[in-house]
Amino acid sequence: MQVRVEKCKGCAACVLDCPKGAVRLVKQKAVIDESCTDCGACMRICPEEAFYPEDAPVPGAVTCEACPVGCRIKEGHTGACQRFINRHGQLERTIPLRTYEDVKHLIGPDWNPAIRRPIITGVGAGTTYPDCKPAPHIVQAKVDGVDVVTVVTEAPLSYSGIKVKVDTDRSIGEEGASILYRKRKVGHLTTEEYGSKMLSIGGVNLLTAPQGLTVARLISDLANRKTVRIGIEGGSRLEVAVGRPPKIDGEVDDVMRVGCGSATLGLFAGLFKDVADEAVILDSHLTGLLSEHTAGLYVGVKPSGVSLRFRQSTPGRYFGDRGCGWGGTSITDPIEIIESIDMSVARRGMKILITETTGRKASLFVVQSDGSLREVPLSHEVLRAVNELADTCQESLVSAVFCGGSGGSARAGVTKYPIKLTRAVHGMKARLTVGGAPTFVLPGGGINFMVDVEKVVAGAFTWVPTPATVCPIEYTMTSADFRAMGGHEEALKPFSPSK
Ligand code: SF4
Ligand code: SF4
Repeated sequence: MQVRVEKCKGCAACVLDCPKGAVRLVKQKAVIDESCTDCGACMRICPEEAFYPEDAPVPGAVTCEACPVGCRIKEGHTGACQRFINRHGQLERTIPLRTYEDVKHLIGPDWNPAIRRPIITGVGAGTTYPDCKPAPHIVQAKVDGVDVVTVVTEAPLSYSGIKVKVDTDRSIGEEGASILYRKRKVGHLTTEEYGSKMLSIGGVNLLTAPQGLTVARLISDLANRKTVRIGIEGGSRLEVAVGRPPKIDGEVDDVMRVGCGSATLGLFAGLFKDVADEAVILDSHLTGLLSEHTAGLYVGVKPSGVSLRFRQSTPGRYFGDRGCGWGGTSITDPIEIIESIDMSVARRGMKILITETTGRKASLFVVQSDGSLREVPLSHEVLRAVNELADTCQESLVSAVFCGGSGGSARAGVTKYPIKLTRAVHGMKARLTVGGAPTFVLPGGGINFMVDVEKVVAGAFTWVPTPATVCPIEYTMTSADFRAMGGHEEALKPFSPSK
């Protein structure tokens, strides 16, 4: 990498963002040291366009092919991510490959098989109030020859909410936008996940706000897999039910993308190469350009002279924008993605396939001698390739995890010493399940858990107008651990399947 000193204004953006710490300012001008690995980060962030790549070979450097950045790593140096080092002309990982034996001390013990499942579930158990009394059912049975105890209750949880995952490429609103139900704020749109949008609904602050009853009812309706209609402020109207495809602005979105535009090229570069000279995969996250992409180079695609309208991340990978067009971008007419065609590189008659990550829409263009494009019908081979992409897609679904905090007074129904229950849960000695379904207990303090609501019988979640949601919970442990934590032995009953 080189600096055009006359362009540098000394803003220090490159100094902050260089992953190698290879840039410093000398008399308010950027200076690059020998640890530079040609990752191009400075070139992309410099507002003055003061950096330019060095084309000449770097003596002793090895080009890393482990990611699209393509660092040129000099002898004795690491690449931008610090993962690979050039040792005598060979790239080596900077840390050794670990076996399970090497890391198992961090993971801790596995569950005793005897306490993996509750003897009874908390569904229909009722609640004992106030909490200082023993839970409504504390049962004991022999499981795999081990004396096991399960304590169940239906716990009212003020600290509760539901995270809803909506599989869709479509833009449904700005991150952070409020989610509205019956004109009241019930949550917000959070980060986008791989091919999905995440909704956070509920939480103690909304449950205790004036709209708390609405929030509690909505959480339990969603957890019980009922259909609900919600809106994103400034965005889309959604009709969602766990286990079914989402309806967005009146249209059912039933196909989930195969990956981002770059991943799609990684999967299908060979397929596209066989049917077109260039392929553009439109996607709001990363739009892919086959001829520049590492996967395209790998399968032998030639340069096409095509430039895209989007901003480049790394070669062949372009940051998309968001909208209701192809691949969740703003592009509604596929030809709009082409910024220009360099006819000193392109060839007359060259075929350019433009599609999206679901393969639902596709167009084929032929380059004319003046550099313009003429749309032609999809050939049989192109259709076959696009259908193969479409066939790899999964069905779009709505899914959800119920999130609750049961580290409060609900513990008193199990033991006289609540901290001992918390420790047992984190120490893999007491297993928390919801309606028999496994939970993930968040690390750190408290007993904050998540459960996939599709694994819990519909109707198991309810709510009370305190307001709070009510969730069936079970703690299962060996009788010895139950006694050791000061469990309510006076309430212990042998489990009888007939009762
Ligand atoms: S190319 Fe990468 S490593 Fe080199 S100076 Fe720029 S940001 Fe730093
Ligand atoms: S994997 Fe790391 S070293 Fe290799 S090209 Fe990517 S950023 Fe550079």
